[in-house]
Amino acid sequence: MTSDHHHHPAEPAPVERRVAALEQLLTDRGLVPPGFVDAINRAYEQDIGPRNGAKVVARAWVDPEYRQRLLTDSTAAIAELGYGGHEGDHMQVVENTADVHNVVVCTLCSCYPWPVLGLPPAWYKDPPYRARMVREPRALLAEMGCDVQDDVEIAVWDSSAEQRYLVLPQRPPGTDGLSEQELAELVTRDAMIGVARL
Ligand code: FE
Repeated sequence: MTSDHHHHPAEPAPVERRVAALEQLLTDRGLVPPGFVDAINRAYEQDIGPRNGAKVVARAWVDPEYRQRLLTDSTAAIAELGYGGHEGDHMQVVENTADVHNVVVCTLCSCYPWPVLGLPPAWYKDPPYRARMVREPRALLAEMGCDVQDDVEIAVWDSSAEQRYLVLPQRPPGTDGLSEQELAELVTRDAMIGVARL
């Protein structure tokens, strides 16, 4: 297997040690309170980052022409909303339908669409998720609280440096009266990875 096919972060262990040492130094000197860096990480994992993707999804729900552009040239359509760049140069949006449920994984490491989802959650990087989502996606999804009906096909997308994926969830029923902004607030990070349904 060639290393240029798939992106692996260079020397993650030394990087992690340097980050931990830096965090300890900042904490020891009273420059940041304990837990500060973890709080920042959580914010980028759960709040700040995924809100970009949520805006993309909401726009696709309210604007059929945008949705079409998003599905045919995802990177350009996402850039229309101002998102793109590092770890998101080549995006493919995959649409959930009544017949297909999409879910995203990176089997070899942790490739993830940073410009629309922020930092990947810890479980996304864990070997059990990466292995089992390919082997037994329906069982793993059920364990994660995402029940996909037996007659709905599950499509598993393996991310790489060349291609990152974003799931376009189905618009929930009963949301006809909501504004684009209100719709965006319904969209969760997990739904855009495909491990939850709205
Ligand atoms: Fe990867």
